[in-house]
Amino acid sequence: MSINLLQDIQPLVLPGHDSGSPIIIAGPCSAETRQQTMDTARALSAIGVSVFRAGIWKPRTMPGCFEGVGDKGLEWLQEVKRETGMAVATEVATVDHVRAALQAGVDVLWIGARTSANPFAVQDLADALQGHDEVVVLVKNPVNPDLDLWLGALQRILGAGITRLGAVHRGFSSAGAHIYRNDPQWHIPFELRRLAPQLTILCDPSHIGGNRQYVETLSQIAIDTVFDGLMIESHCDPDKALSDSAQQVTPDHLRGILQRLVVRSGAPVEDELSLLRQQIDDCDHELLAVLSRRMNVSREIGRFKKANNLRIVQPQRYQALIKARLKEAQSLGLPDHFVQEIMQAIHEESVRQQLN
Ligand code: PEP
Ligand code: MN
Repeated sequence: MSINLLQDIQPLVLPGHDSGSPIIIAGPCSAETRQQTMDTARALSAIGVSVFRAGIWKPRTMPGCFEGVGDKGLEWLQEVKRETGMAVATEVATVDHVRAALQAGVDVLWIGARTSANPFAVQDLADALQGHDEVVVLVKNPVNPDLDLWLGALQRILGAGITRLGAVHRGFSSAGAHIYRNDPQWHIPFELRRLAPQLTILCDPSHIGGNRQYVETLSQIAIDTVFDGLMIESHCDPDKALSDSAQQVTPDHLRGILQRLVVRSGAPVEDELSLLRQQIDDCDHELLAVLSRRMNVSREIGRFKKANNLRIVQPQRYQALIKARLKEAQSLGLPDHFVQEIMQAIHEESVRQQLN
């Protein structure tokens, strides 16, 4: 299927949402008990949230963690719908989940990051969704920073006739040193926006940040850039949450975040500038993480040289390294003097770290 179909896709219209303001989906990482689900839902409904999220089948990295309450959570979601009038959303990862959620009248299904990374799994879900074009499906980005994999997952769902489709950016797993739980790599959702100008793209600042202290800043970045709304984890008693406790906010905290959120309707020129600046920030963030990794390796080499009684600076190695880097830099269109200066500064610091 060609990308053109995604290019033509229209913005999502969600229940209780007026176009012009950001879409807000909120609710706990997991439905844990009927009481916790209802308490959280009532509080979120009271602050104007119109789509309630709660995971009932939880993909957990390690076995033995809380894996969700399973099918009985569907009854709680139905109760939320009946009592508050909010639409309800949950994660589906298997064909059985899709069937059970559709049967229970769940309005919005989302495909999680661990599932969207697997084309076989996504195709199974797409096949199970065939003929259910009333349902809204949101596709989270895959855990690895691969835009094509994300596009492929969106196209598989679209291929099943689901046109009420959206994407959710929740950041990417990363081995480097980062302040956030998942690296935002903003250039990836920005590129998705360029390829699919009308596609509804939400940001999930909770899973990017991994800590509630980052949710507000990340939400503002999202609304200042290319996103149409937010999916935020909110729990009536976050510290007692059975999953993702650190990143969940209370409904009251969420109300503050939403009240302070600035929704700008600036001229396109400004939007473009802020997109470009965001890309610069993103690059710098990556540069610093790479430098920090490089210095870790230098210290490791320092320890090895000491243990093996080797000299710290080995001129042939340095000459060969500079020569190779300059050649590589040339092919990337970077001027020699610039790369030489940077490599010298890095080498000096690297020697200092090894001496230490
Ligand atoms: C979630 O939304 O609770 C979740 C498991 O998200 P992700 O797939 O982004 O990790
Ligand atoms: Mn979660």
